[in-house]
Amino acid sequence: MAAHSHPKRGTVLVADDDPVMRLLMLEMLAQVGLDAVEAEDGPAAIASFQRRPPDLVLLDVDMPNMDGFAVCRAIRALGAPGAQGGDGAPAATPAAATVPIIMVTGGDDLEAVTQAYEAGATDFVSKPINWPILGHRVLYVLRASDAIARLRVADAHNRAVLAAIPDTFFRLDRDGVYLDYEQGHEAGSTFPLDHCVGRHVSEVLPQHIAGHLLEQARAVLSSQQIRSFDYELQLGEQPRHFEARLVSTGAGDVLGLVRDISERKRTEEQIRRLAYCDSLTGIPNRQAFLELLERELDHSRQACKKFAVLFMDLDSFKRINDTLGHNVGDLLLQTVSERLRETIRPSDVVSHMASGNHLARLGGDEFTILIPDLDRVEDALAVAQRVKDAMRRPFQLDGNEIFVTASIGISLYPEDGEDSESLLKYADTAMYHAKNCGKNNAKLYSSSLTMQIMSHVKLEVGLRKALQNNELYLLYQPQIDVPSSQIVGVEALVRWRHPEHGIIPPNDFIPLAEETGLIVPIGEWVLRTACSQAKAWQQTCRRAIRMAVNLSARQFKDENLTQIVLSALGDTGLEPRLLELELTEGTLMDDARATMAMLDQLRRIGVLLSIDDFGTGYSSMSYLKRFDVRALKIDKSFIIGLPEDTENAAITRAIIAMAHGLKMIVVAEGVETDEQLALLEKYGCDMAQGFYLGRPSPQESITQMLKVQRAPTSTATPAAPAPPVTPAAR
Ligand code: C2E
Ligand code: MG
Ligand code: MG
Repeated sequence: MAAHSHPKRGTVLVADDDPVMRLLMLEMLAQVGLDAVEAEDGPAAIASFQRRPPDLVLLDVDMPNMDGFAVCRAIRALGAPGAQGGDGAPAATPAAATVPIIMVTGGDDLEAVTQAYEAGATDFVSKPINWPILGHRVLYVLRASDAIARLRVADAHNRAVLAAIPDTFFRLDRDGVYLDYEQGHEAGSTFPLDHCVGRHVSEVLPQHIAGHLLEQARAVLSSQQIRSFDYELQLGEQPRHFEARLVSTGAGDVLGLVRDISERKRTEEQIRRLAYCDSLTGIPNRQAFLELLERELDHSRQACKKFAVLFMDLDSFKRINDTLGHNVGDLLLQTVSERLRETIRPSDVVSHMASGNHLARLGGDEFTILIPDLDRVEDALAVAQRVKDAMRRPFQLDGNEIFVTASIGISLYPEDGEDSESLLKYADTAMYHAKNCGKNNAKLYSSSLTMQIMSHVKLEVGLRKALQNNELYLLYQPQIDVPSSQIVGVEALVRWRHPEHGIIPPNDFIPLAEETGLIVPIGEWVLRTACSQAKAWQQTCRRAIRMAVNLSARQFKDENLTQIVLSALGDTGLEPRLLELELTEGTLMDDARATMAMLDQLRRIGVLLSIDDFGTGYSSMSYLKRFDVRALKIDKSFIIGLPEDTENAAITRAIIAMAHGLKMIVVAEGVETDEQLALLEKYGCDMAQGFYLGRPSPQESITQMLKVQRAPTSTATPAAPAPPVTPAAR
């Protein structure tokens, strides 16, 4: 049988008072694989439906008692929400509302067709029935109803989703007219897009937002990709932020989801504040400044503009913190940042930067200022000057009147650096330079400064190796007894033969050696080398030549100094009276008590002591007397202008007279001319040293000079100093 060739596809309720018709219908349905249930009139059909809802109802219009229209209406009524089954039957299923109902109408009864639809029919079949087609017709309606049912489920699903999410959703047609609008449950009463279905976006939203929305909607339609954008609406007191997400429905319109993100924005802003603001002063912090700098770099690069970075550090902040406490320290920093803010005039503020603020606190007492669009370097210096002035006004904090000064370093884009890190670093370096130059100072970074510092670092590394690599050597400068013109002593002067930089004079590395403490081993080497040289001359030339050795302050403070001197003398066999230690006024004045003790110990050893560069320090005469040193060396700055410089001539004469009064002998340094020597002789100067009498020279040249002068026989010695100038050995 044909029926067996089809799988079961559903159950059809056939309601007809004519048994023949029912039979035929059953047969036709069976042929397309459908089951059927029969009902011989309306009430029977309704009862059957209630017992077991079929997948489709085939309903004859003309039936006694209750016509097909009434039955159709009754079935639909069963599916209405809250419907009760008749005769105490259980509540009907919702299937009654959607089950497909096909009405069988008579002939060309148009009226019946209309009535059927009004009663809720899905389709109709008119008599005479085209029997071969009937089964297929039913199948077709079943399939359609199935599709509708699935759509209904999908729709319900979508509605459930939309109801569950907090967003507002809307649908726009391609012209920008609202097709749908559903307010999200979290959109609140503040959301403005109420009652907008059928209206154009430009009637509902502010112009700029509407324009943007339309633009984005068009882009979504053409690209078929999701787009999202944020916008801000001023609603009541506060602006609210929204995020709209647009997606194409695939049917030529656009679905939009709008979320109120005001809360999120607020949190983000708070996080941003925490991340970019200095909590103590409320101004931007290091991170913010670095990002600002990056933006300024981009801008200045494109616009070919210059800008400056100022790095400010308070000069005595640590002292204030330590003495007045951290509370006052914090107050000071807050007040300083306020003053800085006021000091940076609006003209320094950048117009192209939304944030506008270019003052930042990097931490501690370090502040930075970015000066964009700089025309001239002087403008940066002027800002620095204003900052310094602002800091100099006394601060009244917590009952204390506080005075501070600031040191400022300035780096320039693009001259000094082309990236934020370098610019900040160089401004910092310049600030340190400013501090070193005596605080309350502003200094521009210039590349020479890095060179200095770079070579300083390299020099230190090199100096550490200089001793072990034998790069140090001594030159000796003769010291002449003025009346006899005889060489009576030499001064040992150290040199460094640097493997790359050549010969480096002591003034370029002794300060570094002092700073690093390397002067102690270097000084010891100088002492031993000089002592052994003096001993050698004593032996080879048979002349007792006094060896003068310079001592730096750091060496003088070294507890082991006497030990070092003693062992140098002991190891070389030089008599103490032939060693003279030169000390500067500064070294002696530092700590009077310790100085006296050390001088005492040295005197007990038997070495001679002299004051070097006399006149450049601030020694008081009474101190000099107590120190009881053998000689004063008048600094060359007094000698150089002689004899024309009458003032210095008078000073020189006074020093000589005074020293003699204190029973000290006087050595004049820096004697370069015949006239100078003659004048010094006239003033009664005891000894002289200088280029005219002999440059600092290697040991061999001195040996030569000593041999020439060998065995001076009092008056027979030529008055003029023997070969006055040895070749420059520097
Ligand atoms: P100083 O002790 O006053 O040495 C005299 C300096 O004057 C030497 O410079 C010498 O070359 C220079 N001089 C000598 N005669 C003349 C002259 O007629 N005209 C001019 N214009 N200059 C003259 P130098 O050798 O460069 O030494 C500079 C300073 O370095 C020394 O000044 C001394 O303070 C220090 N120094 C040198 N060697 C040593 C050392 O071994 N240890 C320590 N601690 N310091 C040293
Ligand atoms: Mg000296
Ligand atoms: Mg000197």
